[in-house]
Amino acid sequence: MIRVGVVGAAGRMGQEVCRTIEDDPGTELVATIDQDDSLDLLITNGADVVVDFTVLDVARQTLAFAGENGIHAVIGTTGFSDDDFDDVRAEFTRSNALIAPNFAIGAVLMIRMAELAAPHFETAEILEFHHHNKVDAPSGTATHTAERMAAASAEWLADPTTHEVYPGARGGAGPAGIRVHSVRMVGAVANQEVILGAMGQTLTIRHDTTNRTSFMPGVLVGVKHVADFPGVTIGLDTYLGL
Ligand code: NAD
Repeated sequence: MIRVGVVGAAGRMGQEVCRTIEDDPGTELVATIDQDDSLDLLITNGADVVVDFTVLDVARQTLAFAGENGIHAVIGTTGFSDDDFDDVRAEFTRSNALIAPNFAIGAVLMIRMAELAAPHFETAEILEFHHHNKVDAPSGTATHTAERMAAASAEWLADPTTHEVYPGARGGAGPAGIRVHSVRMVGAVANQEVILGAMGQTLTIRHDTTNRTSFMPGVLVGVKHVADFPGVTIGLDTYLGL
């Protein structure tokens, strides 16, 4: 039985994680921490693993505390920089950490498939669709997809457009010139399409998130396997054998 503490337990993701940990026969929820609670509860209640879905500054503190006290950490909070990853690597000497910007296994697979397909196609564009309250564009998943595809292939056909009637009609030029289009729509949750083209064929890879339960199988993979992957792991790919 893996003993789990959740930081951000009262949040949208935190509540879902608490339910998931309680419902799974292999995990036990031993600490729920939100604002004004002390991380010391993790030690008092003997947590093996801490899961964090909060905000960046809080997640940094959770990581430092877990590393210092030999507790494994599974972090879903987004926004970490490369400098943060360097700090975390120094902090985790006695326990392990997984920091995954996307726990939806379908999204992780979509990115991997797009990366695999990239060298075989001449053009690629990414369309991401999100709810109307999202303030940043493009989404982190879209930028990450473009980066991975650009790293897999630098050879893409140049954009033929010489005149845009509406500025931005061709989307934003990401790494290697891969175009990213952000749609904001009432009724949408989080969806992404990667379209790749070669002579006589196109390939479309699409992932749709309909609610937060989509993240829970990935969180459980993290909780159950973080002890098996030494040091600090970024992204769920390694845990899924991708
Ligand atoms: P939310 O605002 O609903 O929840 C955040 C929670 O953190 C709140 O309950 C808040 O009270 C708590 N909190 C704030 N300060 C705290 C402190 N000092 N100590 C303890 N708890 C504190 O947000 P959310 O929608 O649940 O998202 C949380 C994070 O998870 C965001 O960074 C979001 O981008 C990320 N996220 C990641 C994934 C993924 O797959 N990795 C999926 C969804 C969301």
